[in-house]
Amino acid sequence: MVVAEEIRCSHCGAPVEFTPGEIIATCKYCGFTTVVETGQVFNFEHSLLLNMYDETQIETPIKEWMRSGFLKPSDLAKKSKITEKSLIYLPFWVISIEAKSAYKGIFERITPSIVKEGTIEKEYNWLVLAREAAEFPTREYNVPLEGKIPYYFRKIESFARVLNSEIDRDEAVELTKQQIEAHHRFLLQQDVDKIVEMKTDFNMKQAVYLHAPIWFIKYDYRGTSYQLLIDGATGTVVKGEIPQKGFGIF
Ligand SMILES: [Zn+2]
Repeated sequence: MVVAEEIRCSHCGAPVEFTPGEIIATCKYCGFTTVVETGQVFNFEHSLLLNMYDETQIETPIKEWMRSGFLKPSDLAKKSKITEKSLIYLPFWVISIEAKSAYKGIFERITPSIVKEGTIEKEYNWLVLAREAAEFPTREYNVPLEGKIPYYFRKIESFARVLNSEIDRDEAVELTKQQIEAHHRFLLQQDVDKIVEMKTDFNMKQAVYLHAPIWFIKYDYRGTSYQLLIDGATGTVVKGEIPQKGFGIF
């Protein structure tokens, strides 16, 4: 088990818990955010998305999800039992950045093949989960940024957990650049069959540190446990495990 360590909140003096690897920690008594290593104030914008559901209300989007979609067993909503409902505020970096990739490649789908040059230019609010080991489908999560407010600890429910960041801003920007470049290479596959060269220039706009409410749901269906991740701001199912269909007769 990982043992939590403590620093003192430089704003209110309360103990701020962190586990090894966490580098940005938020005080649960006053909401003040500190860089663990230096004990200094965290200088970037810290935002929060509000959770709109309590433990009873969250069952509505769960049941709706279970009842919709032809891939699911028809008795899923009726026969499944929700066994766990945890609200966790996950830390993200939202990197606002412009990216322009100039490329040269070969188009081989016609004969003779031709050399193609061009650019891909796009603006992103790129999402990076600020945890090293956690698995979260960031690309499937359409983060509702319009709802963000400045981080306010009184809005955090007492039953919820808030996870600290294990990734600092520079690392998040670096990851963003790598992921965008990979994304552009993927997009290029429509245009060229072989990439000869590609160079991407970035124009960094803003980095926001954000806590977003995610419900971790477990449910049982015919003896097996499945997991759901739900965006607590909108009730959207970010990811859901669906039981195999086909044993309905029994
Ligand atoms: Zn404090």
